[in-house]
Amino acid sequence: PTLRGDGLPEDAPEVDKALRPQTLDEFIGQAEARANLRVFIQSAKMRAEAMDHTLFYGPPGLGKTTLAQIMARELGVGFRMTSGPVLAKAGDLAAILTNLEARDVLFIDEIHRLSPAVEEVLYPALEDFQLDLVIGEGPAARTVRIELQPFTLVGATTRLGLLTTPLRDRFGIPTRLQYYTLAELELIVTRGARLLGVSAEPEGVREIARRARGTPRIAGRLLRRVVDFALVEGDGKLTHALADSSLTRLGVDHLGLDGADRRYLTLLAENYGGGPVGVETIAAALSEARDAIEEVIEPFLLQQGLIQRTPRGRMLAAKAWTHLGLDAPRAPGQ
Ligand code: ADP
Repeated sequence: PTLRGDGLPEDAPEVDKALRPQTLDEFIGQAEARANLRVFIQSAKMRAEAMDHTLFYGPPGLGKTTLAQIMARELGVGFRMTSGPVLAKAGDLAAILTNLEARDVLFIDEIHRLSPAVEEVLYPALEDFQLDLVIGEGPAARTVRIELQPFTLVGATTRLGLLTTPLRDRFGIPTRLQYYTLAELELIVTRGARLLGVSAEPEGVREIARRARGTPRIAGRLLRRVVDFALVEGDGKLTHALADSSLTRLGVDHLGLDGADRRYLTLLAENYGGGPVGVETIAAALSEARDAIEEVIEPFLLQQGLIQRTPRGRMLAAKAWTHLGLDAPRAPGQ
């Protein structure tokens, strides 16, 4: 699920699936992570063991789920998927773990949102492939130990800092995913256009890549919308002019910022003189969840040097004032 408040409709899962890379070779970007994973996958296969538990962390839409699926496929094992908030009770996790086959990949998205009770059950499962379950209540309660098949946990999180240390320590392969470069996004959009059967000018591709916030999910979504405009209002060809006008109509500006980003920046500029402002205040003023602000909106604004995080709150950087077409207030004494 995406938290973007950009008003762009989500795409049907089957459309999304068509663009999802299926192998490590097909996966574009994240060169370092990919090279390491290739070694660890091959080694696990040579040893005929479950691959070590792996944690992917980084902003949404960078390919964490995709890489987990690719790992299972390349390992030649089954893939099960769930998420932190879905696993409400220890029994929910136990039911999944006891159904895993040897060396399967279990993917837990948003793993920072596991409840403490569920986490307790997970520790012995990760370490010794054992499950300690309490059966019954009160004086009749007893613990039973269940042996599990060896498996690989792949966790994904947008918030590494919210993981408890014991959980973090149980991942042998922590992997940080980075924002994609323009060149990588161009390759991703070119591949997407080919898969969608659309003829695309390199300049049109570049315009989408430039405005995709370093994120393949956004690149894919913008591509599909531009293709909609190309089919209905153009001659079906993805040109630069068409990409530019479509993206502008969608409210995506030249830096790739959308309505939610601009509301954030404008709030800081117009209501708080550029800050510093606490994140709770920003969340309340924008009627967005604090999590959405911190996980979805801010990482890219920080990466672009549009805002700064200070101990006293968020501040607009000079680049943001310029981008908004406003004059930064003068610092006292200047
Ligand atoms: P995350 O789990 O990090 O939020 P996903 O793995 O769900 O991200 O990826 C989001 C979308 O971006 C998917 O539709 C996927 O097909 C696409 N995608 C991610 N990484 C790549 C990549 N390297 N090349 C092409 N498409 C990608």
